[in-house]
Amino acid sequence: MRNLIFLIFFSSFSLAQKSDKDLEAFRKVEKEVKNNLGEEIIKINETFFMIKPIGGVAGNIGVFIYDKGLVLVDDQWEIIEDLILETINSISKKDISFIINTHFHYDHVDGNKAFGKKGIPIVSHENVRKRLKRKSKLYGHPQHDYNMVQDKYPDFALPSTVYNSTMKIYVEDEEIQLSNFGPGHTDGDTIVFFKKNNVIHAGDSFVTYGYPYVDLNDGGSFKGFINVLNQIIAISNQRTKIIPGHGAVCNVGDVITLKNILQEHYEKTEKGLSQGLSVEQIMDEIKSELKGPGNITKEDFIMNIIYDLKTN
Ligand SMILES: [Zn+2]
Repeated sequence: MRNLIFLIFFSSFSLAQKSDKDLEAFRKVEKEVKNNLGEEIIKINETFFMIKPIGGVAGNIGVFIYDKGLVLVDDQWEIIEDLILETINSISKKDISFIINTHFHYDHVDGNKAFGKKGIPIVSHENVRKRLKRKSKLYGHPQHDYNMVQDKYPDFALPSTVYNSTMKIYVEDEEIQLSNFGPGHTDGDTIVFFKKNNVIHAGDSFVTYGYPYVDLNDGGSFKGFINVLNQIIAISNQRTKIIPGHGAVCNVGDVITLKNILQEHYEKTEKGLSQGLSVEQIMDEIKSELKGPGNITKEDFIMNIIYDLKTN
């Protein structure tokens, strides 16, 4: 009997060790967030705010204020729950009615574990729930394989309401339009459009740190990413405030600029590949270039497009 207990203990111990190793990269980012992350509040208008993280990897949070409560878009990290709540409280003392997830990546929805535990409903595309229910290896690029593994989420942290291609949520006189325009950054991206406020939260379908990530391991697509940017442009007007997954508040002109640059990269890479050009020759053909603070180079980005074209 003693041996049996020892064996059970030993096998569960080694399982825990194994899963910890998978999650090493995640734990490292989480620790940096806990130690360094601060929040900045950006007022977009009287009823809409953005919480912008400083000094750590985390997505922007959108905060819509209505008479009876708050609607959040994305919720950053469980580990900084107190900081997030303190920041939200300094904007408004109202309770959070529900949370919308733009996609399933940890730096945008890890906070589901904190807020879902409190019973706050979470809404997302159906593939977010599907992917959060299991352990996922992210990105899958030959150039940017960070071995980033995201653990499966507990049931209380999963979205409780999901949709397939589009959904509308009416909150007082605001119409919140959730749209999935097909594969892009992942296969479960939501563009969240608050029509009356004229604010879009684009999640990582639009970012300002240079070359964007396309999560090929999780249904993402370079061609689809450009299509999603076109869709954001189509639903925007000159006054629309566009919240990127990471970075400062933008407008439709910024989205058009990114779209044009990515389109040039995609089209010239596809053409160059069919003509048998080398990566260096393709790079020379592409006149535009995006600069950091992100760490994907022009060459990486082209290599990743080639990988996508060859494997999908
Ligand atoms: Zn992402």
